[in-house]
Amino acid sequence: MATENQTDPTALVQQPRVNLLGMSRKNMEVYLSSIGEKPFRAQQILKWIHHSGIDNFDEMTNLGKPLRAKLQELAEIRPPNVVKQLDSIDGTRKWAVEVGGNNLVETVLIPDGQRGTLCVSSQVGCSLDCSFCATGKQGFMRDLTASEIIGQVWLAIKSYDGFNNGNKRIVTNVVMMGMGEPLLNFDNVVEAMSLMLDDFGYGLSKRRVTLSTSGVVPMLDKLGDVSTVSLAISLHAPNDELRSQLVPINKKYPIAELLAASKRYIAKQEDTHRVVTIEYTLIAGVNDGVEHAKELAEVLRDLPCKVNLIPFNPFSLSNYKRPSNNAVNRFWLVMTEAGYVTTVRTPRGDDIDAACGQLAGQVQDRTKRSERHRQKAELAQPIRLV
Ligand code: SAH
Ligand code: SF4
Repeated sequence: MATENQTDPTALVQQPRVNLLGMSRKNMEVYLSSIGEKPFRAQQILKWIHHSGIDNFDEMTNLGKPLRAKLQELAEIRPPNVVKQLDSIDGTRKWAVEVGGNNLVETVLIPDGQRGTLCVSSQVGCSLDCSFCATGKQGFMRDLTASEIIGQVWLAIKSYDGFNNGNKRIVTNVVMMGMGEPLLNFDNVVEAMSLMLDDFGYGLSKRRVTLSTSGVVPMLDKLGDVSTVSLAISLHAPNDELRSQLVPINKKYPIAELLAASKRYIAKQEDTHRVVTIEYTLIAGVNDGVEHAKELAEVLRDLPCKVNLIPFNPFSLSNYKRPSNNAVNRFWLVMTEAGYVTTVRTPRGDDIDAACGQLAGQVQDRTKRSERHRQKAELAQPIRLV
């Protein structure tokens, strides 16, 4: 006979608690309404999390006790788990963050005078397999959640005790240039970036948050509809033949389409002086010749852009070489004389494998997932393979 104490078996299945760390203001307002609370509480909760670095509802003293108790039961603020922190002699700091299933992603902070640039990962590995990239060599495991993405900003500030430092935050700029292709994890990246820009989040200006993409054209168009962040395009070659060897997704979305989409992106922005950053990794004997520079200057002629040259950063699975300083300077000179604002990125943190393209973390590759993901990229727009 059933007794009052008999447990309902469905109640034994614990509902996972909602992680509020990665929730944008809009979604938090919807969430709070859904649990019968006033939407304006979202602003208070966001400030506790992202301005004060609080991850415990008990400390949110301007919320009533019943609301705190309710949130305790239904939700959580769970930052990613840092398993290793490495400090470079040049001040660069790298964190390895555990994301379950024996996988690690990496986040890098590059302090430079008053500026602190945080390089944030968007995926565990990457399915796009660019020939010069350590992340690409590892295959793909999964997308990061919005909490795991914004959590990298949270933990970087926490690590420097920046939450106790008023408005003087260690992170002044964010670049989505860590592991993964951000446009293939669109919703979570957009959600996390909205927290970077929100005054109740990190309050960064749109010029200080940059999304870098290897060129998933349909997603770039979608981004222009919902986001105002700065755009960096990983070009690396001035013609399709060479680019397809270095960046395989070029076979789907060739240079002309990518540059046209980049133009559409800045045209959608309200401020008229927007430019795209063209990233060009210089690889000795591959794409670093004067002839490549001249061709690049031609190809970019109609795009409002600046050029960032990145001397290749070596890693163990690659035979590519970094070009000589002479070759880098020659390339720089051709671009500069052609009228482009051109900078050369100084490698930072290469003693701790934190330089561009050296982020490898630890990825349990799921080949099938990689394949599915690649198809997702390719199906985004039905173009025939070149
Ligand atoms: N998937 C995105 C963002 C991550 S890669 C993209 O490809 O844009 C961030 C930047 O580092 C890209 O411009 C990428 O091309 C560059 N990069 C990758 N491997 C590199 C390496 N070994 N040396 C120098 N730059 C590299
Ligand atoms: Fe992926 Fe970017 Fe690396 Fe290419 S360069 S494999 S898109 S992370």
